[in-house]
Amino acid sequence: MSLDCDLTVLEELTSNAKQIQDDVLTKILKANANTEYLQRFLQGSADKELFKKNVPVVSYEDVKPYIDRVANGEPSDVISGEPITAFLVSSGTSSGNQKIFPANNIFFKNIQIFYTLGSLVMSKCFDGYKQGKVIRFTFTHPISTTPGGLPLAPTVTSFTKSEYFRSLPKNSPSPYQIIMCTDAKQSMYCQLLCGLVQRDEVASVGAVFAAVLVQVIHFLENYWKELASNIRFGHVSEWITDLSCRDSVSTVLVEPNPELADLIENVCGKKSWQGIVSLLWPKAKCIEAIFTGSMAQYIPTLEFYTNNELSLVSLRYASSEAFFGLNLEPLSKNVSYTFLPNMSYFEFLDVDGGAEGEIVDLVNVKLGRYYEILVTNFSGLHRCRVGDVLEVTGFYNMAPQLRFVRRKNAALSVHLESTTEEELLKALARATLVLESSDLVLMGFTCYGDISTVPGHYVFYLELKSKVDNNITNVLSLVNKVLVECCCVIEESLNRIYRHFRSKEGSIGALEIRVVQEGTFGSLMDFFVSRGCSITQYKTPICLNSAEALKVLGDKVLARFFNDKSPTI
Ligand code: AMP
Repeated sequence: MSLDCDLTVLEELTSNAKQIQDDVLTKILKANANTEYLQRFLQGSADKELFKKNVPVVSYEDVKPYIDRVANGEPSDVISGEPITAFLVSSGTSSGNQKIFPANNIFFKNIQIFYTLGSLVMSKCFDGYKQGKVIRFTFTHPISTTPGGLPLAPTVTSFTKSEYFRSLPKNSPSPYQIIMCTDAKQSMYCQLLCGLVQRDEVASVGAVFAAVLVQVIHFLENYWKELASNIRFGHVSEWITDLSCRDSVSTVLVEPNPELADLIENVCGKKSWQGIVSLLWPKAKCIEAIFTGSMAQYIPTLEFYTNNELSLVSLRYASSEAFFGLNLEPLSKNVSYTFLPNMSYFEFLDVDGGAEGEIVDLVNVKLGRYYEILVTNFSGLHRCRVGDVLEVTGFYNMAPQLRFVRRKNAALSVHLESTTEEELLKALARATLVLESSDLVLMGFTCYGDISTVPGHYVFYLELKSKVDNNITNVLSLVNKVLVECCCVIEESLNRIYRHFRSKEGSIGALEIRVVQEGTFGSLMDFFVSRGCSITQYKTPICLNSAEALKVLGDKVLARFFNDKSPTI
């Protein structure tokens, strides 16, 4: 597929989804039939029916020993006919453990196609997107090497470093060297500086995940005076010591611009930051970042920062295992991703009703059913569970459209109940409405099951911002009732089994909200980043269980609130 294609490519891909998936599987099996892994099940055959009959559905842990052998220096053909050229490290924020996945040029080429098609969808929806600049806050992680000598980095970093990224049309206000800088603070500062200097050309502001964008806005809260001063004098701060960042900024910040500095100071100096993004980037049409799944919690936050004037667009659904699909209706509030049949071979394990059922092909999924995705890709994964549960919401031509429902294993439990990520997020969304009615905006959320108390109870950590006063501590004493009400609303919307144990048996204690200081969720991100997670791929965990991560939050609690009623059954 060429990079100057148009949207007819999407029509072709989705109309011929069945044939394309068949071809993808044939190609993969031909390339991999003689790998050590597939030999065990197929004895060298590339037959598709035999593949489905004999090759087991696996989780990452099952194939890890094979992946590790290649990472440690054994030949690629332990798992892949195509040479493995890199390893991708997943964020590890959802599962708790970082995983490494093999990759090769086919993987990177697929990402390039994915980005190209995504830009076409955005250009169709938003006038001026194609001609404008797109701020996508991206942070490059240092690249390490596996014991076998292959590069090891998060997906976004590996792709950004590759020729496939560099040959995409350039539309970022920040020169490439700034995005490549591995010092996140210097990079973030310079990306903001370049974005502000070219504010009138910016058509979209975003990041891969919404959580990161919120952290960038926090950073701006701390640095706007300095950024404005740099713009006023046409000179970047001395603490930007990375030479390629300095040089690149000087190609953008070419002269003093006191008018722009005044404007930034006026806008950022306001008591409330409601609508700040729209004010700083007046031509922006949308915020482009993932807002589905655990990122849904940031919708009200970004609605506040854009004053509801910009569309919040979740465009892509992807992972380190495979790139899956694009949202072809960026303006719709009901986000579903249309799977692209050329990316990998996809199968779907029916998980409706809790039990695992039939496995079906991409084009055979049924409307309204819930599935876990299995990936067979060009770089050595065969029928591997991704751990995401999706619901089929429709079809675009022959390709299914799926809504992200939840991570499979993220659930909270303190007794015999189990509360899924989706249930927690629904409960949180209800509480958010209560917060909003009192001019409070949710900036960060996570929860954990505290079993150090008897009975155990759920703890929701919330970082809040007041719409009317930038200092949350000034208003906390006034909102006691609101937060107790939130505890109540959350418990009322949890499942029946939870409410039964809580109200009837008393085997679950009253739900607690702990409000933490502003910036706490930034510190939580820093904690995960210090453990090797990439900023770009960071996703705030919905449920925390690491004692060290909990300590980061525990040190910053401002106030605690409990439900004073038992939930109804
Ligand atoms: P990683 O491999 O670290 O990039 O993480 C990939 C995971 O991020 C996926 O398996 C999903 O759980 C999550 N993810 C990626 N894209 C989306 C999306 N559009 N909506 C919700 N979750 C997503």
